[in-house]
Amino acid sequence: MNEQNERPNRPKIEKGQPQTAWLFDIDGVLTDPLEKKVTHPALFDELIKRLERQEPVALNTGRSLEFVNRVILKPLEKKIADAHILQNIFGIVEKGGVWISYDLDGKQETYVDRNIRAPEDLKDEIRALAAKPPFSETMFYDETKQTMVSVELLPKDQMHGRSFEEFQEAQRALVVELQRLLSHHHLESSFRIDPSRIATDVQNKNVGKALGVRQFVEALRTRGVRPTQYLAFGDSESDYEMYEELKRLGLPGQLVYVGEQEALREKDLSGVVFTRRKVDQGTLEFLQNATKSV
Ligand SMILES: [Mg+2]
Repeated sequence: MNEQNERPNRPKIEKGQPQTAWLFDIDGVLTDPLEKKVTHPALFDELIKRLERQEPVALNTGRSLEFVNRVILKPLEKKIADAHILQNIFGIVEKGGVWISYDLDGKQETYVDRNIRAPEDLKDEIRALAAKPPFSETMFYDETKQTMVSVELLPKDQMHGRSFEEFQEAQRALVVELQRLLSHHHLESSFRIDPSRIATDVQNKNVGKALGVRQFVEALRTRGVRPTQYLAFGDSESDYEMYEELKRLGLPGQLVYVGEQEALREKDLSGVVFTRRKVDQGTLEFLQNATKSV
């Protein structure tokens, strides 16, 4: 992998400004939430249409570089005839800990933020913990993460009849153990635990969906790109942070929410659009309908 000490500084693009900049969560927005892959190839076509219009597209996810490349970027690269348009796509992965961009020839560049990486001894202890029952019965240590630590729900065919409830019970016990480890390593002030439906993450306190938005906006500013509006797509409550961050930065933006409306019941919904279909089908519905108007 091409690791660099500094974030690649791209030359400014001299051209008209794009109408829209697009931000996508991956799981349950571009991928089927259960199959964990893109099951509607038309989504790739919709992304390519936007890249061809010189509209910036960012993926904003907790997934690893390996996952994002395997599931989204490599299949997308194969479908693109003119590699130059890849310079319009950005990957903000591991919640902002790892950055992907493309040079003018369509060659991928990556940057790993070494300042926020979990210490190796902590990783070793979590890896050992995840390998023991009861944790090993429903979850596994994700070896592809470079800055954060994720202990993920096992694929269904490796659960050997164990239920999602058993995963949740083990996850509660894991969180207690992880808190103990953070305390033991005196990392409570800089790291936090984030349990979700698919994994338990141990991450630097600065990372998250809002950091991804700031990195994307900053990268566009460096290039002199000022989109008229930002559209963020999400299916979980944490994706609302993208919309909040856009507002905080004073940028015109909306959240297209493809998850269950119930999850945002406490939020200000003035800039939120709900789709009729849910998850990846909701994203496709919005993008196909938006082609003419957005
Ligand atoms: Mg998601």
